[in-house]
Amino acid sequence: MTNITRALKDVPCGKLERLSESPIDVIRERLSTVFGIANFSEAVVAKRNIEAIRETTWALAQKADFESFKIVTKRGDKTFPLNSDQINRDVGKHIQTLSGARVLMDNPDLICFIEIAPQRIFIYAEKIPAPGGLPVGSNERAVSLLSSGIDSPVASYKIMKRGVKLTYVHFHSQPYTNRNSQRNTEDLVRLLTRHQYVSDLYLVPFVEIQRHIMTRAPASYRVILYRRAMLRIAEAIAQKVDAHALVTGENVGQVASQTLSNMRAIEEVTPLPILRPLSGDNKEEIINEARRIGTYQISIEPYEDCCSVFVPKHPETRANLEKVREIESALDLAPLIIQTLEQTKRKTFKF
Ligand code: ATP
Ligand code: MG
Repeated sequence: MTNITRALKDVPCGKLERLSESPIDVIRERLSTVFGIANFSEAVVAKRNIEAIRETTWALAQKADFESFKIVTKRGDKTFPLNSDQINRDVGKHIQTLSGARVLMDNPDLICFIEIAPQRIFIYAEKIPAPGGLPVGSNERAVSLLSSGIDSPVASYKIMKRGVKLTYVHFHSQPYTNRNSQRNTEDLVRLLTRHQYVSDLYLVPFVEIQRHIMTRAPASYRVILYRRAMLRIAEAIAQKVDAHALVTGENVGQVASQTLSNMRAIEEVTPLPILRPLSGDNKEEIINEARRIGTYQISIEPYEDCCSVFVPKHPETRANLEKVREIESALDLAPLIIQTLEQTKRKTFKF
């Protein structure tokens, strides 16, 4: 209920149950973004007697073009004098007489739903699909590593859909990259915020760490070392915001760093579970989902990834854990990570 109210907060629609004279299109569009709603309906309220139910249902049916129909009554309030079967027959006969259409149980052109609730009687003919899932906030918080690419916004969406509230973290390489990737990321967070109403984005300056790794570690291991540093920073932020998991857009086999042995070598630095909701998806499936949720257009805007600037030509695809640890132990990353965390900026977005 709170989430629906928030989604509609600047839409003049009166009390939640009264939809008349409201901008129905906007309301439909907004409700279809609220996780936890499987479907919703635009209903007409009828007076509490069978004559009124007949008339109201007929008025609604007349808006449709149909040759076959059925009536489906749900009687939540058992004090109503007729049971659902009696209501179905009564209203069905009325509509049949007036329209000439036939009653069909299997796949009719029109279904009129009549809901006898304790306070009101609702009549509607359409169930509008919504994303389903669980209401955001009904689960705990996670930290999502958000690049401005295609994958991580889709991963974030999928995890929010399971009721998890997200805090976003983005690593940037300014001044070596232009501000576009940061701006794209902010646009993505703004868009994703309409599912959870308020989000924090942590902007992490990553250049010092990258420079350190680049000058001291073999080229083929750099990406793995960058990622390990990213996870350590994300974990520190998770601790601060009371988050219990990390989310990434990683996908098995999509790029060189996303082999199983590399994922293993990367994730060993944190005890937090890493959720990778896209791990088994095909690129095409991810792109379709990105289009559907509206992130695709922002993700394909030109940008320079923090990693693309510092990425070697031949990254390791089968990282050896021992070797990764050995290379890393020769570095002095701990103070740099602390310093980077101090320089991290937080930005809050509200729907
Ligand atoms: P995406 O499309 O999400 O950018 P990708 O296909 O480019 O992913 P990688 O570059 O291997 O794949 O990144 C894997 C994951 O690591 C991303 O999905 C994201 O969760 C995280 N990540 C990568 N770069 C950044 C960044 N600059 N800031 C925050 N997270 C990042
Ligand atoms: Mg990327």
